[in-house]
Amino acid sequence: MGDAWILASETCAFDLLEARFVRDVEPGEIVLIDSQGVRSLRPFPQTAPALCVFEYVYFSRPDSTLWGRNVHQARKELGRQLAREHPVVADLVIAVPDSGVGAALGFSEASGIPYDLGLIRNHYVGRTFIEPRQQIRHFGVKVKLNPMRETLEDRRVVVIDDSIVRGTTSRKIVRMIRQAGAREVHVRISSPPIQWPCYYGIDTPTRKELIGSTHRVEEIRRFIQADSLGYLSLEGMLKASGSDPSRFCHACFTGGYRVPFRQDDSSQLPLFDDATPHGPSHL
Ligand code: SF4
Repeated sequence: MGDAWILASETCAFDLLEARFVRDVEPGEIVLIDSQGVRSLRPFPQTAPALCVFEYVYFSRPDSTLWGRNVHQARKELGRQLAREHPVVADLVIAVPDSGVGAALGFSEASGIPYDLGLIRNHYVGRTFIEPRQQIRHFGVKVKLNPMRETLEDRRVVVIDDSIVRGTTSRKIVRMIRQAGAREVHVRISSPPIQWPCYYGIDTPTRKELIGSTHRVEEIRRFIQADSLGYLSLEGMLKASGSDPSRFCHACFTGGYRVPFRQDDSSQLPLFDDATPHGPSHL
């Protein structure tokens, strides 16, 4: 931007500042900015990249460009692929906002089922994924989502979400959609079941808390009380991500950790204690 350099974790920050995006900092690269200008150092041995595929599924903002691809476009492709893998006869496609919206639009496009607003997010409340106390999560879902009876009443509804972590939020959402009058609720998830914790900086629950690691898909469907449930396959997710599949980390779906750790390193330290219940993520 002018004669200044700006570094950010997502390109949407540059839009705000009207700065021009130049390129990603590569894995293993150190970019040094000082009075001599910009220099790139590569002090580490070259290793295979392991980009977090979950950035495309959920973490990043849709208006960011990541590894050469706009995140919203990637999410739409995840949704199209999901519609091809798990077709359903229904009247309406809705999203769990906001991260499910791109995939829902893609699902609608590929299936020909109209997209509409069925759940409205209250943007003023915190996200709930890593809030530590059960009762706060319980409260959080009700406060942050409101179903649209006018849209849902007497319809066969496909609801698209990016992931299922514990399953408790999905169950509440299904119930909420039914209470608003939906005749059928079909859940489609734009990623495979999360079965393993992330040890690379994302504060996910332990393995035993991940419903995808302890239950089969049919058991999860029964738990969340959906008429049907379909997860995107690993191959489908990687294909829809639009890059060489070997470039991605997908350990939370497969357990294939690219950077090994000793077993006794596997305990996760909570990022937030009970006094600060607002985490950075959802579900
Ligand atoms: S384990 Fe999952 S969330 Fe963690 S870096 Fe890998 S893909 Fe991303």
